[in-house]
Amino acid sequence: MARYIGPNCRVCRRNGEKLFLKGGRCYTPKCSVDKRPKPPGQAAGRGRRRRFSDRGLQLREKQKARYTYGALERQFRKTFNLAEKQAGITGENLLVLLERRLDNVIYRLGFADSRPQARQLVLHGHIMLNGRRTDVPSCLVSEGDTVGWREGSKKSEYFKLAAENIGARTVLNWLSLDRENMVGQILSLPTPDEIDSRFDGKAVVEYYSR
Ligand code: SF4
Repeated sequence: MARYIGPNCRVCRRNGEKLFLKGGRCYTPKCSVDKRPKPPGQAAGRGRRRRFSDRGLQLREKQKARYTYGALERQFRKTFNLAEKQAGITGENLLVLLERRLDNVIYRLGFADSRPQARQLVLHGHIMLNGRRTDVPSCLVSEGDTVGWREGSKKSEYFKLAAENIGARTVLNWLSLDRENMVGQILSLPTPDEIDSRFDGKAVVEYYSR
């Protein structure tokens, strides 16, 4: 399945809400959702109202989750299947699994301004998981894992800037951050309450249950 490579802001506008895919810009008046709240496309421009069926609303929630975490459809479905096999509420399991993605942890630690940027860092081999270079953004972290930077990457301008700005960042309770060495650790797995979810897990479950 092909990856969406179009403008990120268009995805937010289509979903009618901010998905925070562009880092700092998302918090400025330049944000496209703030500037042009209508969905993209000609029909939307003429002011035609879009109506969604139940199925359409479920699809929308699923797509929102997928785009927020930058997962391909096949990969997302795999994560959903895993969530279904786990004990407990599938929607909540799915949320925790998505939050455990390595690229999400990089973003949560403040090494990147957005998940797409975090994904790039991992893909380009800048990130070490438990001391080993890892270039799989969807890789799931576990309790006790450490996440840091490759030695060679520490010479880059990007790293220097990130290290300068990291002091101002706060990290979530389930993570710890050694700001001096730019190394993060997973203290415990996140609980659904600790995650600022932007999608309705129940609707995603209903979407795949048909
Ligand atoms: Fe979405 Fe960020 Fe673009 Fe706003 S600036 S539309 S939140 S990606």
